[in-house]
Amino acid sequence: MTEQDVYEVAIAELGLPAEWTITVAIRPRRRLLAIEVQPGGVVTVLIPPGTDPGKVADYVRRQRAWLTTNVDRAAHLAPAFTVKRWVDGERFDLLGTQYDLRLVEGGPAACIQRDPLPSGRQSLQVRRAQPEVMRRAVIGLYREHGLAWAREHGLPYELRGGIQQLRYEVRDLGRRRWGIYNHAKHLVTLHWPLFGLPIEVIEYVLVHELAHATRPGGRPHGPTWRWQVAAFMPDWRDRQADLAIAGHRAWMGECHQP
Ligand SMILES: [Zn+2]
Repeated sequence: MTEQDVYEVAIAELGLPAEWTITVAIRPRRRLLAIEVQPGGVVTVLIPPGTDPGKVADYVRRQRAWLTTNVDRAAHLAPAFTVKRWVDGERFDLLGTQYDLRLVEGGPAACIQRDPLPSGRQSLQVRRAQPEVMRRAVIGLYREHGLAWAREHGLPYELRGGIQQLRYEVRDLGRRRWGIYNHAKHLVTLHWPLFGLPIEVIEYVLVHELAHATRPGGRPHGPTWRWQVAAFMPDWRDRQADLAIAGHRAWMGECHQP
């Protein structure tokens, strides 16, 4: 038996509900045991190498009540819906970079730590607090970084498109829209979860709204607007298709209940 098999047998002997799918992953860089519930309800036990199988089984047994709540919840969400947990090593994507969550005592509520971790990734440091406080801090960070990115990357298109005095904001737009251009306010609003998607897709949404901001004649998504989008971004249709796929996997701020 492989080390992985030994753990799987130890967990199988717990007699957990048969409908639960439990997988184990041996993680060389991990020091502590952890459990993740994937969208759709698949459970993964993350195990530092060499951990005693009895200890792993005990750990999973103690998580049973928590699993009952969260497996059920994850199973009822859309299959690819992303739900985050406030544990070290949880992955967050922001502007095309992957970050490992690191909970720290003190310091700013949430910040990016540029020094790479042993995993090679950078860390998203969050001051340990109530889950809702940490959630809001991370969303605040997405909004702040997203806004700075949009202003910087929007500028060349503003110049090319003859757009003047455009304003940007990043906030929550609910579940149906990634961006809005408000004609009266000459304001581009972007949905904060957008900034967790691949960079090509973020660029597409920005360009989509900036094409509206050039105030082309005709219908909002009519031929004149489409001509402007294509002038800005020749491969926009591919990126639009990618958005439809990536959008289903976006983190919309959902977190596991503690
Ligand atoms: Zn539009």
